[in-house]
Order: sequence, then C-alpha cells, then structure tokens
Amino acid sequence: MTTSEINQIQALLSTPKQIIIVPHKNPDGDAMGSTLALYHYLKGFNHDALVMAPNDYPDFLKWLPGDETVLKYESETERCEILLQKADLIFTLDFNALHRVGDMGDKIGTSEAIKIMIDHHQQPDNYAKFMFSDVRMSSTCEMVYRFIEMLAHENRVTADIATCLYTGIMTDTGSFRFASTTSKTHYIIGKLMEHGAKNAEIHNAIYDTNSYARLQLLGCALKNLKVIPELRTAYITLSQDELNQFDFKKGDTEGFVNYGLSLNNIIFAAIFIEHKKENIIKISLRSKGDFSVNEFSRQYFEGGGHTNAAGGKSDLSLDETIEKFISILPSHKNELTS
Ligand code: 5GP
Ligand code: MN
Repeated sequence: MTTSEINQIQALLSTPKQIIIVPHKNPDGDAMGSTLALYHYLKGFNHDALVMAPNDYPDFLKWLPGDETVLKYESETERCEILLQKADLIFTLDFNALHRVGDMGDKIGTSEAIKIMIDHHQQPDNYAKFMFSDVRMSSTCEMVYRFIEMLAHENRVTADIATCLYTGIMTDTGSFRFASTTSKTHYIIGKLMEHGAKNAEIHNAIYDTNSYARLQLLGCALKNLKVIPELRTAYITLSQDELNQFDFKKGDTEGFVNYGLSLNNIIFAAIFIEHKKENIIKISLRSKGDFSVNEFSRQYFEGGGHTNAAGGKSDLSLDETIEKFISILPSHKNELTS
C-alpha cells in the first residue's frame, strides 16, 4: 500500500463508521482470525464494526474472542443484506474474488460502501478501492498485523487481537513450517505473545480438541490413500457414505490432505471429498517446491489459491473425478519429477 492510500484510510477511520468485515465462504483459521482481529481493533476506535461470514465454520474456531458477535449471511440473509447496504466500509479478508463468498458477493458488489481488500491469494480481482494484496505473505493475519503497523497502532494490539492473529498465522503456516514463514512472521508472532497471545493454549484449542469420530474418519482417509510414486503424487478419497459412517462435521477433514505430502518423495497431494447435497466433489491440493497447485486447480478444477495450497471442485462423480485426475497427471510429468 502506498503512503497516500494509508493516509486516505487513516482519514476514513478518523471518525466512527459502520464497518462490515467479511471472510471467505467456509472460513478457516486465517479467515476468522483476521476478521475477528480487525473487528477488535476497529471496536477499539469506537467504530460500529461487525464480522459477517458467508456461512458457518468449524467448532474448533468457535472459542476465538468475539466469535459470539459473528453474523452468518446464510442463516440471517435479510438482516445481513440491509447491513451491507447501509455500511460505510466493507473490509474483505483472505479472499481475492467476490465469488469466493457465494451469493453474498453480489450484495457486496452493489453496496456503495468503500471496499478494502486485505489478502494473500494470487491474481486478485479488482473490486476494492483499496487493495492490500501480497502473495508473499504467510497469512492474512500477518497482513492485518502489518496493516495495524502501517497505521502506527502496534500499541493498540490487545490480547484478543493478538490471540486471533496468532491463530490464523499458526493455521495458515502449518504451525510455522511452510516456506511462506519468514523471519518477520516469527517477529510478529513474538510481538503477539508479548501482547498476550498464549501459544500453548491456542495450539491446544485448535489441534487437540478432536472427537473420536474424527480420528476414525482420518483412519478411513489414510486407508484410502493411494500413491503414484513415478509421478511423486498421492491422493485420498472420501465418499459421502464414509463421511456419514464417521459422523462428519464441518472442519473434520481439515488438514487430511497434508498426510499425502508427508510421504517421502511425494511433492503433490490431493484429497477428493464427495458432497452429495451440493452434488460436487470438493478438492484440496497441496505441493512442495515449484509445482503450482494454483495453476493446476485453475486449469482443471475451477479453483485456485496459492502455489503450494489450492482448492477446487468437480461436477463429475467421485470415480470420474479420480479418473480425470489420473489422466491429467502424465502431462505434468516433467514438472513433477524434475
Ligand atoms: P483448502 O484446500 O484448504 O480448501 O484451500 C487451500 C487454499 O486455496 C486456501 O488458501 C483457499 O482460500 C484457496 N482456495 C480453496 N478453494 C478455492 C477456490 O475455489 N478458488 C480459489 N481462488 N481459491 C481457493
Ligand atoms: Mn489465508
């Protein structure tokens, strides 16, 4: 962001405003952490702020400070649409295109509110007046900290803000292990701890609150894991029947795809999850090194994301989707094995 843009945002925020903060659909730790952190920050300056999520999110995020204030567009559509119309400012966090919030995207597009994007996904659309978009960032939470820094308000980071930001940086960096983690990321994590983020408690709340059924579902996913060693690829499938058998709840399959990538010599991992109700196969893709799952997903599975982590979908059946996936792979042999 330029100094002029920062000055303009500073001017906008110098008097109380009605502000809506929006994460992407099916929000993850970074999306909820960043939106709730910004909410607490703006509340600290007496803005009438609120987080409006397109739909619900997993229980393991529901302890985040401020969670009880979050509105969900899917279940309170009418009220949310009125609020979107009336808003002075809309912050869109952790997504790069309005279709990533589903039906709510049109309402954001037509609202007269000034839009501010804070995001680290590739190829952002041009719908926001102010764009803080940087694909080198580990997480949107890291960017919100930097945004607060640019506004010279590090001293206004409360324990609630610190807790939310720590959570999203932790989840989006795989607990500080992905290549996107920089010395600045660690510097910010240190600052967040100084401001009151309790690291052990946060790790516990996110990663050590599994249900027995979820671990059984993981067992099922690992049994279904297939490896194509000559293409350094591994993939997992989960059918709707399998999800039902293990009492699937939103968020239960989070992180499963990474098990494929933990295999020696594997650099490309995928998970295909059948969602009968929506009649789609949800796909998560992960890679190590230069192989871009963002490009792969854009080209074949109507999705996108980052170089090493992307999502997509397929309208084919689960078996047909796997067939398609396997038939595509050989054309990428050079990238996968070089
Ligand atoms: P996940 O596999 O965890 O759902 O998503 C991995 C990354 O890709 C996340 O950063 C997510 O925001 C992004 N992503 C997931 N699905 C899509 C999609 O359909 N389109 C785009 N552009 N990004 C996606
Ligand atoms: Mn993110």
